[in-house]
Amino acid sequence: AKAQHRGSSQYFSSAMGTDARERFKLLKGLRAGFEENRLFVVYQPQVELESGRSIGAEALLRWRTEEGNFVPPDQFIPLAEKSGLIISIGEFVLRTACHQVKRMLELGYPDFRMCVNVSLAQFRHPDFIATLQRALRDIGINGHNLELEITESMAMEDTELVMHVLAEIKRCGITVAIDDFGTGFSSLSHLRQLDVDRLKIDRAFVREAQSSTAGSTIAQMVINLGRGLGLTVIAEGIEGEEQRQQLLALGCHEGQGYLFARPMAADQLEQWMEQQTQ
Ligand code: C2E
Ligand code: CA
Ligand code: CA
Ligand code: CA
Repeated sequence: AKAQHRGSSQYFSSAMGTDARERFKLLKGLRAGFEENRLFVVYQPQVELESGRSIGAEALLRWRTEEGNFVPPDQFIPLAEKSGLIISIGEFVLRTACHQVKRMLELGYPDFRMCVNVSLAQFRHPDFIATLQRALRDIGINGHNLELEITESMAMEDTELVMHVLAEIKRCGITVAIDDFGTGFSSLSHLRQLDVDRLKIDRAFVREAQSSTAGSTIAQMVINLGRGLGLTVIAEGIEGEEQRQQLLALGCHEGQGYLFARPMAADQLEQWMEQQTQ
């Protein structure tokens, strides 16, 4: 079975999780891929649920191997985190996304909001804030066009540090979203302490909301929690019109998902934005 799947992402998913040697090989490939520019960033638009108005995009990392296969980020990002490679890869994503912001500003979207995922290892790194400031300054954009996404579990792992770094981030004018919200069991009091701007409801809740009453009750509670804290609530993984309407009815402000657009290359994003404003 291994030989059959060699090189495909299935091969990676079945074999890489357990075997240390295979993981090492994957990491070696990732390192080479990074050095040889086989990592790139795609963008998935985000919209206002009520009006359909486009508000920005999330930057998502892609790795295309030398053989031309795509390895899913869920598989290589954990490796990059463990090995420390995420520090340089994360900076690459950040700077690429900032360049794209610059481009969107030039195209006439002054409020375009670019969301960038950051790992705990990046957050913990003593140079993280300097890296952010340098990117903004070098590329010549404002903090308000940039949003960082940190996962809920990450925010709960090291609250002291996270609170401190959040304050520094906010000082740069950058906003922050809590990603995969609802999966990390954070308490209300915990959340209140975190100075964030947006809650991003995990795809699992969006799916469940449609399939059962219990699911929609939970989705309602998660949305209410965010609204109650005065935060903007965005749902990810919206695939159908019914889901959009349901989430809108539940009080969700914004959305992202295949219903609106798939992650796409920079030039496609520019076209997409232009179509939206026509
Ligand atoms: P995430 O941050 O939760 O990103 C959302 C994922 O949902 C993306 O998967 C996106 O392609 C997918 N998605 C969006 N809309 C839909 C939909 O309507 N239906 C379905 N089924 N899926 C949808 P992707 O790109 O494979 O990324 C997976 C994860 O990898 C991300 O989850 C994020 O945790 C991580 N990741 C991606 N890029 C980066 C990065 O630059 N840095 C870090 N630290 N993590 C990243
Ligand atoms: Ca995200
Ligand atoms: Ca997410
Ligand atoms: Ca997710």
